[in-house]
Amino acid sequence: MKMLVLGAPGAGKSTQAKKISKKFDIPHISTGAILRNEIKQKTENGLKAKGYVENGKLVPDELVIDIIENFIKSEVAGRGFFLDGFPRNITQAEKFSEMLEKAGKSLDKVINIVVDNGEAINRLGLRRTCKDCQQTSIYNQVQGDTCRNCGGQLLKRKDDDGKVIRHRLKVYDKETHPLVEYYRGKSILADIKGTGTLEEVTERILESL
Ligand code: AMP
Repeated sequence: MKMLVLGAPGAGKSTQAKKISKKFDIPHISTGAILRNEIKQKTENGLKAKGYVENGKLVPDELVIDIIENFIKSEVAGRGFFLDGFPRNITQAEKFSEMLEKAGKSLDKVINIVVDNGEAINRLGLRRTCKDCQQTSIYNQVQGDTCRNCGGQLLKRKDDDGKVIRHRLKVYDKETHPLVEYYRGKSILADIKGTGTLEEVTERILESL
């Protein structure tokens, strides 16, 4: 299964992509997570990406296209994949189509998780990520700052801050949302209602496959 997920920041893309890729035993590739890791390791790409990521701007296309191109050429991509956070604009989507064609591969499905902006802003404001295992959760007073999965410290992402969140949503509307119609035109898009419990959303995605 070769798939990717679209949706505004806070729609629940990574949470769902992790669950579904585990179920199908395919790699989950999140360009955001790869970039955050590069930033943490202070690699050359990380240093280039830092300012963009922390301010909610898209990093230059070449940087993410290189990451995805290397992955698509790799042997593991043959088993299938679930991309999360790529493509983010029409240039990346067109480049991605070329890459797939060259590699003799094609996309099976594009999942579009739909939530309204109010819901996305609420979720992002409360989102916490574990410093150790990277699992995300929604902040609540009982749990406090301790990760339920590994006991590590929960932190707020720098780009999950009020002003940056609003900027990321604007970038999504302008740059990424046009991809919904781009993939609808290829007849591989499924619109999935992103509200309800995590399990309900997963169930809707599985039904669409
Ligand atoms: P995400 O974890 O998907 O919310 O991505 C976090 C940040 O990483 C984004 O706000 C961008 O700065 C950067 N990023 C992730 N994927 C891409 C992409 N495909 N193109 C450009 N920037 C990206």
